[in-house]
Amino acid sequence: MKRPLTAFSHSLGKQVRSVRFRLMLWSLLMIAIILVGFSIFVYTQQARDVSYDSINRVNRMARLFIPTLHDVPVMVPHSDDTTGPSLGSLSSPGFASNATPIFQSYDAGALVDSNGQVLQKVGPVNDADLTSLAKTWQDTGAGVDPKTAQVSTTSSSGQANNSAYYFVLSHVVDTGGNTGTLIIGSPVDPDGRLSSLALNLVLGSVAVLFITLVGGYWLAGRVMRPVQTITKAAQQISETDLRRRLNLGTKDELGELADTFDQMLGRLESAFDRQRQFTADASHELRTPLTIIELETERALERHRKPEEYTRALQVIQTENETMARLVSDLLTLARMDAGQTMIKTEQMDLSDIALEVVERLQSLASHRQIMLETGDLPEVPIRGDHQYMVQMLTNLVENALKYAGENGKTVHVETGLSETSSPAGGWVRVIDNGPGIPPEHLPHLFDRFYRVDKARTRLDDSSSAQSLSSATSSGLGLAIVQWIAQAHGGRVSVKSEVGQGSTFEVWLPISE
Ligand code: ADP
Repeated sequence: MKRPLTAFSHSLGKQVRSVRFRLMLWSLLMIAIILVGFSIFVYTQQARDVSYDSINRVNRMARLFIPTLHDVPVMVPHSDDTTGPSLGSLSSPGFASNATPIFQSYDAGALVDSNGQVLQKVGPVNDADLTSLAKTWQDTGAGVDPKTAQVSTTSSSGQANNSAYYFVLSHVVDTGGNTGTLIIGSPVDPDGRLSSLALNLVLGSVAVLFITLVGGYWLAGRVMRPVQTITKAAQQISETDLRRRLNLGTKDELGELADTFDQMLGRLESAFDRQRQFTADASHELRTPLTIIELETERALERHRKPEEYTRALQVIQTENETMARLVSDLLTLARMDAGQTMIKTEQMDLSDIALEVVERLQSLASHRQIMLETGDLPEVPIRGDHQYMVQMLTNLVENALKYAGENGKTVHVETGLSETSSPAGGWVRVIDNGPGIPPEHLPHLFDRFYRVDKARTRLDDSSSAQSLSSATSSGLGLAIVQWIAQAHGGRVSVKSEVGQGSTFEVWLPISE
């Protein structure tokens, strides 16, 4: 019994917290405030009109009996030759019969003597109220301006009521010297206009609020539907299903949100893909040297071997170890670069100094491979760069040229220059070889991680020349690192190559004076 109840209150709480519910509530509140304001305005306007009418009426009626309201009228005996209504005398009043044609059934008129005795009256106001009105008037000496009072009335059908009246009271004296009080009254709202207006306003407001409630709930639901779609889709999209898109297809703000979300998913997907590819490639690259080491060790340990055989086995193991060390170091460099943990400490430097430094360092390697490593024009190229990274970048390029130029008698040429036409102003360093070149279909992928033009050949080359080119073993990461360094310095790297002619790698960097 308890559980469904908690579930119900939980879903109710969720409903109440929902944007849809709150939107509806806010619109309801707004409309309610507007309605209340409007009703108050209309009601007060109408109430003012109604009371003006009533005051006018009561004044008009009073003037019939009291020509100048501030005078104390002397009662004239009722006779046929007087024009207009007459009050008669207090001892034999003629007021009622005369008053009747002018008065409406709800109006009140009365003559009260000095003892509070109601001598004459027309209209529904009860005697007790008339007496107390006359008494109050006598006590306070209130003027003849109309005043409101709440009085009890009895209609002709005998129905008792409580109504608001405007009254004009006046002191009267008859010819015999008897004094009394004349009371003329008219209801504030004789036709019940105010109460029917109030009823209409309340009913109208309730109707409008109901429509707002239903309409608001429906409208809010419609507006929120795309949000629900987005939420549902987002819940379904998991790490393994990043290919899915929301594709909301609307041009409004929510469509824009969904588009942004889709773009983010796209970036996430490609980041995940790159990461996955990277891990797969890295493990694949590490597996080959590990397998070779394992096979080599197994073979060496199978039986007793000659010392030269052990030496050869150890040399193979050493080479593979170097491959792995290089690979791990490159991977680490790239991982750090990706994670943004690499600190680039830039200083003012001359790119041609770096070129010279790298060429000198790799000279012995080049002569070992019987390749000519030479410098061309080296004008000063002032840049801001990190010395260590600049050296690494150029070393990778020159090592590649030496590695892939292949046969003896080839040359590798390093030169720098300033590109006058480019904006911003830049300088470049080129590594030019007349090696085998790279087929055009490979050029777009050359700077991708682990990309090698000819995997089998590269590895074979590496093992056969392991001793001579120990630091230049192939990982397929060298050019990716070159590109990262160039970009991190605000520059770029490009390649031109023709099969049989050779390749030219150019790094462009912004000049810094
Ligand atoms: P690797 O560690 O294999 O050298 P790189 O990223 O430095 O990795 O180079 C990627 C591939 O580009 C190489 O495997 C090679 O096939 C090709 N390459 C790079 N430089 C040259 C060059 N100067 N001449 C011919 N091919 C090259």
